[in-house]
Amino acid sequence: MLTYSEVKELSAISGDENYFVSLYLNVNPVTNPKGDYLIHFKNMLKQTLDNLDKKTGKSVKEDLERIEAFIKDNKRGFKKGVSVISSAPRGIWKDFHVSLPVKNELVIDSTPYVKPLLALLDNYQRCMVLLVDKETARVFIIQLGEMQEYIELSTPDIPGKHKKGGWFSLQQKRFERHIDYHVSLHIRDVVKVLDDFFQKEAINSLIIGGPEEAIVKTKDILPKAICKKVIATFHAEIMMPEKDVLEKALEIAGEAEKKKEADTVSELITKAMKKDMAVIGLEDVLDNLQAGKVMMLVFLKDLRTGGSRCLNCDFLTVKSVKTCPYCEGELEEVRFLIDFAAQKAVEQGMQIEVITESDELARAGGIGAFLRY
Ligand SMILES: [Zn+2]
Repeated sequence: MLTYSEVKELSAISGDENYFVSLYLNVNPVTNPKGDYLIHFKNMLKQTLDNLDKKTGKSVKEDLERIEAFIKDNKRGFKKGVSVISSAPRGIWKDFHVSLPVKNELVIDSTPYVKPLLALLDNYQRCMVLLVDKETARVFIIQLGEMQEYIELSTPDIPGKHKKGGWFSLQQKRFERHIDYHVSLHIRDVVKVLDDFFQKEAINSLIIGGPEEAIVKTKDILPKAICKKVIATFHAEIMMPEKDVLEKALEIAGEAEKKKEADTVSELITKAMKKDMAVIGLEDVLDNLQAGKVMMLVFLKDLRTGGSRCLNCDFLTVKSVKTCPYCEGELEEVRFLIDFAAQKAVEQGMQIEVITESDELARAGGIGAFLRY
């Protein structure tokens, strides 16, 4: 899983006499039906090496061979984009498979090139799940259906549950207070760790599970900024199996995401109706995309439509025309026009928002865009 900590670790590496190869490659099977990404990689490689002195080129030979083998052998693991950061002499190899499109780039430098990875992380919705009771806490991070358990915290010096019998009520009260004090300390520890995570990992939302009283106590102590990100709480046993945590969290996060998507769609349509920096419908979107005016592309996940694409300038259109109105280049027919549009948006540094389900957007043609100007 791609995490901020990992990317920050890479960006903290300082340069020495050795080189890093950083590769970003669009491997989406839809826009690369014949595995064309290997050709794209080789073309980029040739171009990059032509601009480098021979000595530097030689020093990254091992990295480049390893990367080429990786691209050839990993077809099955590919999602939409892949990134590799490699420095053989420094013993560093990292590969990331991502479900968002990436812009093709190959950089050879004395430090890793991580800017696109940071941009990808900004696009992921990251959700934290905290399971907490009065002695233990478990922290999970979820992004795009993948989950990782990060830590398990326990505060072992909590006195055991109160014994039965032999206690005067006064003593019992005091004993309960004693437990209460320890529980508070434990929850304070947990909150401190959460705070750390929120700072380091840019978490978008938090779900808290556990017994009612532990949830209430945690929410009491949580800093306001984090408390605002709590999207749901649920009753749970602390040792709940990981797969159940994931299932529960995806269900809750799915609801929250749906709401967010619905808000985006209604904002888009309202603005488009008022002609206020937004458009809906494929034709208008493609025109604005071509003009570089799009800020965020919004489209339905299952939107499929064919069209044509200019082989010379990448102009996209739903019309079936033979020559490009911009450069008079030759147009080819494409079956998945939306994937090409999304790829183009990413290459121009625009954001994309994929909407899982929306009748409102479907009625508006399934696609729209917020404009830059
Ligand atoms: Zn053209």
